[in-house]
Amino acid sequence: MDSNAINPGQSADSKRILLVEDEAKLARFVELELKYEGYTVDIAYDGRDAIDMFVKNKYSLVLLDLMLPGINGLEVLRRIRKLSDVPVIMLTAKGEVSDKVVGLDSGADDYITKPFAIEEVLARMRVAFKKSAQKEDKNICSVRQLVIDMPKREAKWGDTSIDLTKTEFDLLVYMIQNKNIVLTREQILNHVWGYDYIGETNVVDVYIRYLRTKIDDRFNEKIIYTTRGVGYYVRDGQ
Ligand code: CA
Repeated sequence: MDSNAINPGQSADSKRILLVEDEAKLARFVELELKYEGYTVDIAYDGRDAIDMFVKNKYSLVLLDLMLPGINGLEVLRRIRKLSDVPVIMLTAKGEVSDKVVGLDSGADDYITKPFAIEEVLARMRVAFKKSAQKEDKNICSVRQLVIDMPKREAKWGDTSIDLTKTEFDLLVYMIQNKNIVLTREQILNHVWGYDYIGETNVVDVYIRYLRTKIDDRFNEKIIYTTRGVGYYVRDGQ
């Protein structure tokens, strides 16, 4: 059977889905529906294949059956979570309530109970994609070539790592999250050093100077601006 003939939407979306399901008929049905919606779909029929395929390819989302031969779905989920925070939606049979709970505790994003309507799967997938995009937004902030990975506490200018102390990092993140907005010394102090800070207020100026040395001077591009008598801001665009 030539499935391409009935896949008008295939090129519409580049999202690649890993479908882990040992019931071949059900897997085929879901595959066709997802392809029709424009997704690219790979099927793993058991847990070991699922892990192998996950390691080798890059997926946008995993639909994961819990009851699998060999390595079960929860174990697959745990291994995936060691590698990635890709959205995972579990497919569970009725009565697997405790597995659902364990699955959600193990980092699944959602679950769908069988038998399901394909529209429900598609709707849950859209929600998972949306959440995942929001999560990514929260984890990364940037201005020009400067990119901050917050969970890793890593700052880079292009490919070059910038070595920052904890306070410098926190100050930079705060300024980038509020880019193009002038922040007063007091706002910066309260946010980065905390309301209970009792040291010198010029500590903000001192740290701004450190950041300018490590970023503006080093990469020969001004990103931190002063608004005289008010405070500082990071500008997106020169
Ligand atoms: Ca199964």
